[in-house]
Amino acid sequence: MLVSMPCTSIANQFFTSMSKYPDATEGDVQLEWKGNVPDDDVDEDFESSPAPPSAPPLEKMDPVPGYNHIGAGGFMAPPPAYEAVMREQPTREQILGADIINENDAREVLLQHVAEHCCYGSRAAKQLKFTELEHTSAFHYKLETFAEGRTTEWTFVPYTGQMIDGPENGPAPMPWDIYAIPGAEFTDHVKQIEVPHTSSVKPCHHCSATGRIRCHKCLGRGRVKCSSCYGKGYKYVTRQGDRRKHNCTWCHGSGKRKCQTCCASGMITCTACAGHCQLKCFIQLSVKWSNHIDDHVVERTELPNDLIKKVTGHVAFNETQFRVWPINHFPDADVNTASNQLVNKHATAFGMEKILMQRHHVQIVPVTQALYRWKNVNSDFFVYGYEKKVYAPKYPQQCCCGCSLL
Ligand SMILES: [Zn+2]
Ligand SMILES: [Zn+2]
Ligand SMILES: [Zn+2]
Repeated sequence: MLVSMPCTSIANQFFTSMSKYPDATEGDVQLEWKGNVPDDDVDEDFESSPAPPSAPPLEKMDPVPGYNHIGAGGFMAPPPAYEAVMREQPTREQILGADIINENDAREVLLQHVAEHCCYGSRAAKQLKFTELEHTSAFHYKLETFAEGRTTEWTFVPYTGQMIDGPENGPAPMPWDIYAIPGAEFTDHVKQIEVPHTSSVKPCHHCSATGRIRCHKCLGRGRVKCSSCYGKGYKYVTRQGDRRKHNCTWCHGSGKRKCQTCCASGMITCTACAGHCQLKCFIQLSVKWSNHIDDHVVERTELPNDLIKKVTGHVAFNETQFRVWPINHFPDADVNTASNQLVNKHATAFGMEKILMQRHHVQIVPVTQALYRWKNVNSDFFVYGYEKKVYAPKYPQQCCCGCSLL
C-alpha cells in the first residue's frame, strides 16, 4: 500500500511556476475530491472500487509534431510505401487424395457413437446390413492474414523520479517508424511502447496534485451505515417467544461504523499518481498484431458444412508467403473460386493495418456415407474426418423422446 505524501507545497509550486495546469477552479476538469460531502451516510458497499482516472486532459499536453491526431480514436493508416508487389504465380505440387474407410471401421465408430449417448440402443448398430459405402471428400480451405495495426494515446504513470525522455532530446519518431517485431506470427497479441522524446512531468490531474482523492467507499464521509443493523442502531431479538429491542453490538447503538477503507479520514491515496502528486505523461504506442481468418467448406452431401471445420484431414496444400497467390490448380473448381474470393477480400479488408504475412491451406476431409438396411428400413449415417466422427441423426434406436427400445 502506497502512503500519501504531504504535497500541497509541491502543488502550489506547480500552480505558480508551471502555468495554470491543472486549475482546480476551472469547471472543465472533474476532480475526485471536489464538491461538498453530504450529511447522510451511505450503505457499506464491499464491492466498490475507486473510479479509474481519466487520461490526462489533451489541451494540457505539450504538442508533439506528427501526433496531432491523438484523441480522434481508431487505428492509424500505415504509410502506403510498404504495399506488396504481386509476384509471379509460384510453382506448386500435384494434389493427392485422402484415405477411405471400410465396413468394419464404419460399424465400429457407429457403436462408439451409440455408446456416447446413454439412451441409444446398440442392437441396430450391431445388426444393420450395409448396402453401400459412398466415399467422397470435403474440402476445407482456410486463409490467414497476419497484420499489424498501430494506435497512439497520451497516458501516464506516477512520477517517482524516473528518467524523462522529453522533446529536448530530439523530435519524436513517427508511429510507423518505431521498431517493433511480433512475438509470434499468426497469433493475436499487443505490445505497448513509450514513444521516445514525448515524456514530461505534470501535476496530477486526478487529485489536483494533492496526492489524495475522496474515498469511494464512504464518499468522503469517513463513516458508513452499520451493515448489521442497517443504520438503525438497534435490533429485535426473540428469545423464548419474548421479542426485545437491543442496541446493536457492532455499532454500539450509533447506526454508523468507521470507514475501514480510509480509516475514517474520507480520503484515500490518489489512484493516478499513487500519492506522488506528479505524473510522467507520455505518448504510448500500441502495436496490435491480429490474425484474420476466413475459411470455406466445399461438401456435397447432407452432412452440415460446419462439422467439417471441426475435424482434420489430409493437408493437400499449404503455402506461406508475404502475399499469397489464389489457388487455381485445385481439382475442385469451387475451392479455386473460394480462394480467389477470400484472397481478394483480404487484400482490401484491413486498410488501416499493414499485412505482414499470409498463409492458406486446403484439407481434404474424408466423408463416407454409409447406407444400410435394418428391420426392412433403409437409412444412412456419415463418418467424417481423420477423427472418424459420426453424424447419425436418423439412427433408429434413439429413445430420448419417449419411444420404447426395440
Ligand atoms: Zn449497528
Ligand atoms: Zn472512507
Ligand atoms: Zn494524483
